[in-house]
Amino acid sequence: MYQALRDREPCRALESQSFALAICAYVLGEFAVARTALLNCLRIDADVEEYWHLLAFTCRHLRAMDEFNSIVFGGRRDVLASDSDYAAAETDARLADHGRASTGPAEGSPDWQGAFRDLVAVRGSALQLPQYAAVLTEIRRSMDDWIPIRQFEAYEALLARLGLCLRVDCAFLPLSGQEQPLGIEYAPTTRARGSDPASIKDPRASLHVIVSRRPSWADETLANSWYAVVVDGRVLTKPKIDHLRLGLAFGYPECCVRSFIQYNRWGQMCNLTEAANNSRRTRWEANCLTKNTPWMTIFHIPCAFDCPATVDYSQAVLAAVAGIDLGYASKLEAFIKQTVLVVNEKLSYALVGAVSAGDDRVRYEEAIDLCANLSFREPSDDDRTRALRSANELLVTGDSIVLFRDGAVCDVLELRCDGGVVENPLLLHFE
Ligand SMILES: [Zn+2]
Repeated sequence: MYQALRDREPCRALESQSFALAICAYVLGEFAVARTALLNCLRIDADVEEYWHLLAFTCRHLRAMDEFNSIVFGGRRDVLASDSDYAAAETDARLADHGRASTGPAEGSPDWQGAFRDLVAVRGSALQLPQYAAVLTEIRRSMDDWIPIRQFEAYEALLARLGLCLRVDCAFLPLSGQEQPLGIEYAPTTRARGSDPASIKDPRASLHVIVSRRPSWADETLANSWYAVVVDGRVLTKPKIDHLRLGLAFGYPECCVRSFIQYNRWGQMCNLTEAANNSRRTRWEANCLTKNTPWMTIFHIPCAFDCPATVDYSQAVLAAVAGIDLGYASKLEAFIKQTVLVVNEKLSYALVGAVSAGDDRVRYEEAIDLCANLSFREPSDDDRTRALRSANELLVTGDSIVLFRDGAVCDVLELRCDGGVVENPLLLHFE
């Protein structure tokens, strides 16, 4: 049927046939076909937002980010102007000069070694460092990051020194707490407004960037890297197939990417519970709960906590970290070999000095909030952190976490599944 639609002369096709062709071609990765079909739809009816939406994302795959930006951010709704031959266009996503003041490198920890020292200084953050080691050694194909706009020039220069390619997706600006844009429930992990990177002036902006050793890998990732950010008062999501493509473009294990696509629905299920149910062992190499701290090897949620592809990947990343900074690698390994309490997909704790005190019960010396760096925190998350810190033993039951201080109950954390994120507590002993 796809073949029959594709072989039809575009001008003889009905609007519905052209749109069906465009969707099929997009899913199959035949983006030039998708573009022709969408332009035909738009010639028939230029007022259908879905056509513009899919055309914009088709442009990303055709390496035409300028076209994407002009449709999405510039509000361009002119068919003829869009109908240029951009299939062969070269992507040059580097930003023009926006008059940013160079503030020089931010202060970094003197303990970091080699490339890590420079990355911490320029980015002003020690998060994701092992992923840079993974990209430098091609253990993963690419990664993404958010760079404050003031630091972008220094970052761009550092990446060139490290031999890494850089692509810019779009600018992120924080949403104020009161804003409730249309469709915000479809953006559980992102609370940002998206803007054209070429025209952003706001000093609070960060640029969402793609980093890779190879230009072709960077371009492939960029094509799929749109996040659900707010544009013109509503959340703009990408075609679903691009979630799968993004995971593969990053170089994550395919088993884990497919599991993520299936289970990453915070409101209905917990991906981490599914991974735990799919595991025979809880291997430290597959500890993804520390990903928002500097002490991590994997960013993806594994399909199981003993997924062989994830374990291999994690060991390779740790070796790459050790190649740059041996001291960091040994601290990192010690940190991820811990017991973790998962409250929900956006709240978990490392339980320092954890000792089992029976099934689902553990004594601990300290609870470290592994999600303190996340932007989408609820005030109740901090209340829970305080409660866990004032206890030294806990028991996980079906719908609550009972906290003890020196053997006596001191608090009970009630858990819910109706607050937008499923709360199904897990104690994971990574060993
Ligand atoms: Zn896997």
